[in-house]
This record gives sequence, structure tokens and C-alpha cells, in this order.
Amino acid sequence: MSKNQNKTGAYSFFNCIEKNFDKAARFLSIEKGLLEQIKACNAVYRMHFPVKMGKEIKVIEAYRVQHSHHKLPCKGGIRYSMKVNQDEVMTLAALMTYKCAIVDVPFGGAKGGIKIDPQTISTENIEKITRRYTSELIKKNFIGPGIDVPAPDYGTGEREMSWIFDTFLSLRSGDVDALACVTGKPVSQGGVRGRKEATGLGVFYGIRELCNVKEDMNSIGLDIGLIGKKIIIQGLGNVGYHAATFFHKAGAIIIALAEREGAIYNEKGLNVSKVFSHLKNTGSILNFPEAKNIENTEKALELECDILIPAALENVIHKNNANRIKAKIIGEAANGPITPEADEILEKKGVIIIPDIYLNAGGVTVSYFEWLKNLSHVRYGRMEKKFSENMNAELLQVIETICKKRVSTKEKKIILRGPREIDFVRSGLEDTMINGFHKIRDLKKSSKIENMRTAAFVLAINKIIDSYEKLGIFP
Ligand code: NAD
Repeated sequence: MSKNQNKTGAYSFFNCIEKNFDKAARFLSIEKGLLEQIKACNAVYRMHFPVKMGKEIKVIEAYRVQHSHHKLPCKGGIRYSMKVNQDEVMTLAALMTYKCAIVDVPFGGAKGGIKIDPQTISTENIEKITRRYTSELIKKNFIGPGIDVPAPDYGTGEREMSWIFDTFLSLRSGDVDALACVTGKPVSQGGVRGRKEATGLGVFYGIRELCNVKEDMNSIGLDIGLIGKKIIIQGLGNVGYHAATFFHKAGAIIIALAEREGAIYNEKGLNVSKVFSHLKNTGSILNFPEAKNIENTEKALELECDILIPAALENVIHKNNANRIKAKIIGEAANGPITPEADEILEKKGVIIIPDIYLNAGGVTVSYFEWLKNLSHVRYGRMEKKFSENMNAELLQVIETICKKRVSTKEKKIILRGPREIDFVRSGLEDTMINGFHKIRDLKKSSKIENMRTAAFVLAINKIIDSYEKLGIFP
């Protein structure tokens, strides 16, 4: 047993990432000290602060970890969960560093966490805690447009980001770039269109790209394309919900959906929007009329399918269930859903795993677009939309004159339309995810790397070394 394993033989979450990093380092001839520097967390801020809830004073435990300062600002979401601890936040911050490097987003990695269960706390108290947490970050210079920029993660969303921005602005009034202190804000408060669904859409683009590669599909005995592929998704929050919606629209068959309270299954496919209305109306996915209930939600991961997408929490596929997983592709929408032991078992079984440090990078990619929008103080498309529409109209007129034919009003509308903010964001995201996938895949092939995770880490380490060299820190 290694020194990084606990009594039961399990690795800490941070050690899991170090293990993946070390596997990748074997493919690189980089000085040990430099590798150690890349792996280490640059700053860990652990805090306790009091919040009056009703008549009681509660002491809240919270964290912000800046894993790497090789590029600034640092960037990463804030998680609200009773499972939050230092090891988890450090690991998630490290994943952010590698993720940003892979998708060419110029940030260092960071992550935040507050140890609360938002489902059992009133909105008023969640707001109090969020605002106090923000003021603690401001006090220690752990937040700011050029320092560290939080975003949503598990248990948080637009609402929390909006409170963070408002608190920052009230304590830093006059900062013309204050909007860029946090991303994932509502559009009405400086957010960018397309951020909410960005991670789920990125997951969709990444998996679609793999499914379009004939050689890879042949290797696991599947046809190319998404149509008809059987998919299971665990976790129907921000990431899982949007991913499910995009796969359903693309013609994939969502055979099972799993939540905390249980899972539902229909071999012929679930109508995703109907399931979500049912969830909204009843508060649970269980007892959906067109599906069977699975009481033990973890069992849903073990059903026969083509693609399994864990989109809830870490370590859900471990050494005790990995052998029973029947999926041919696993898309890691959540951070760290597969333990290193399970990774080895699945690799032996020939499962293709698309790793988290690439696959769920859609969120940070669009957060980058939001940050740029906030710093430039102008909405995407404001300068180009009308210009493009005028140019398209002129071009169409020339073509119609040459061809002596008129297009229909409906066709004209499509041809003339200039790009809106959402078009820029979606195309930027799609391009990023497609490029990222092929960079990892090409590196895997050219360097004969055993799997996509290790190749993704190699790509990330190379990019980070590159920026250290550009900074002249390590000549
Ligand atoms: P969320 O809070 O919106 O949703 C999580 C969902 O998982 C909830 O519906 C919850 O009920 C469900 N869940 C919890 N425990 C479960 C269990 N045991 N079985 C089944 N479902 C369970 O969180 P999110 O933002 O969608 O994040 C999900 C994962 O994606 C996390 O690992 C997060 O770090 C990662 N991620 C999120 C983003 C983002 O932009 N939100 C970006 C990158 C990565």
C-alpha cells in the first residue's frame, strides 16, 4: 500500500489527481522540481465565520484554494455541499488549472467551497452566508477581476453569483471592471448568453466528436454518430439537465436518469422534457409514468448502455462497482467521478473514458467569454450584427440579379440574419471543444499514450511549462 492510501486502501481525492499527473509525467522529460511546482497548490485559504440564522449563531466552514498562479486571474467555481473539505477543494482547484490549459483559457486554477447543505437552509440564510463569504475573500484579496474569479459549481448558480457581484461592488465601488469579479451571473447583471447550459453543451460536443471518429467507434463495436446511442445520465442539475436535453434533441436515446432519491429507466428511451416537467411538479424523478423506478440509484450506472455520463459528484465509479459497468464510453461530466483503481479496471475492459479535465471545460470556456465581455464593456455582436445583415442583403441582391431568381421570404430571413451574442458564444464553445478533443486524441496516437486521460494531462503539463518559460520563471 502506498503512503498516499488510507487504511482502506483508498487514495485521497488530491492524491488521485497526483497519480494521474505522475502517469503523464512519464511521457515528458521535465525536471522533478518543476513538476512538483505545477502539482502543488499555491494558496489555501480556510476560513470560519459566524452567521446568525434565526436565533442561533452558526459557525460556517469555507475554503478558497488557488492552485496555480502561472496565469492570472485564477478561476474556478464555488461548491455548496456538506461534503466540502480541504482535500476536495484543493483537488477541484488543481483540475481547473489543467482544464484551462487544455482549452487555452488563460487562467490559473482555483476553487471554492462552503460546507452547507443549501437544500436545508432558507434562501435568506444562503444569501447571508454567500455575502459574508465574499467579504472574507475581499478582506484577504482572494477575489477580483485580475486576481481570482469564482463561478457556479455543485449547489450554486446564477443567484449566488449575483449576490457575490453585488457584495463585491458595494465594497469596491468605483471599480470599473467590478462585473468581471465573478462569472455565471444572470444576463441582466452582466452575464453572457449561453453560460448556464455551457458545461452540458460542452459535454455534448465532446462526446459527439468521439462518436464521429470511425476508428474509435470500430474499436468498441459501435456505429458512428449519436443517433440511437443508448445513454445513462447521473445527476440532473445544471450540467446533467442540459447535457440530457442536447443528447435527446440530437437523436440519442436516454434510457436512464439517476438522481439522489433513485433512478428511472425505460429501454425505449425517456422523453427528457417530460421527465423534467414531472420533476418540477412532484419534486422527484421517481414514479414517472413512462418509466420503471430503480430504488438504489447507484444501480443505474450498471445498466447496459453505450454511453454513461456521471454528472453529479466525485468517486461514484470505484473499485467495487467498476467491473459491473457495462458502458462502452464514459463521459466524465462531473469532476473526478472515477477513482484511479476503477480507471485501471475500466481501461482493461476497453472502455473509452473522456476525462473531466477536457470534457467539462465548456463552463470555464464560456466563463472566459463572460469575463472578456465584462472587461470590454460591450455585448458580443453589438458592433457586427447590423453590419453583417447589411452585407448579407447586398450579397443576396447580387446573387438574385445574376440568377434572375428570388429566394422565399423564409429563406431570406435565414440568409440575412446577423450573428447574436448566443451565436458567438456557442460557436466559440463548439470550436474549443472540437479542437481540444483532437489535440488530445492526436497526442495520444503520436506519443502512444495508453488513454485519453493521460494524454490530456500531458497536453496540460506541456501548456503550463510553456507559460512558465514565457514568464521567464524557469528558463
Ligand atoms: P448541481 O448542483 O446543479 O447538480 C448536481 C445534481 O446531482 C443535483 O441535481 C443533485 O441532486 C444530484 N445528485 C447529488 N447526489 C447524487 C447521487 N448520489 N446520485 C445521483 N444524483 C445526485 O451541480 P452541477 O453544477 O450540475 O455540477 C455537477 C458536477 O459537474 C460537479 O462535479 C461539478 O463540479 C461539475 N462541473 C460543473 C460545472 C458547472 O458549470 N456547473 C462546470 C464543470 C464541472
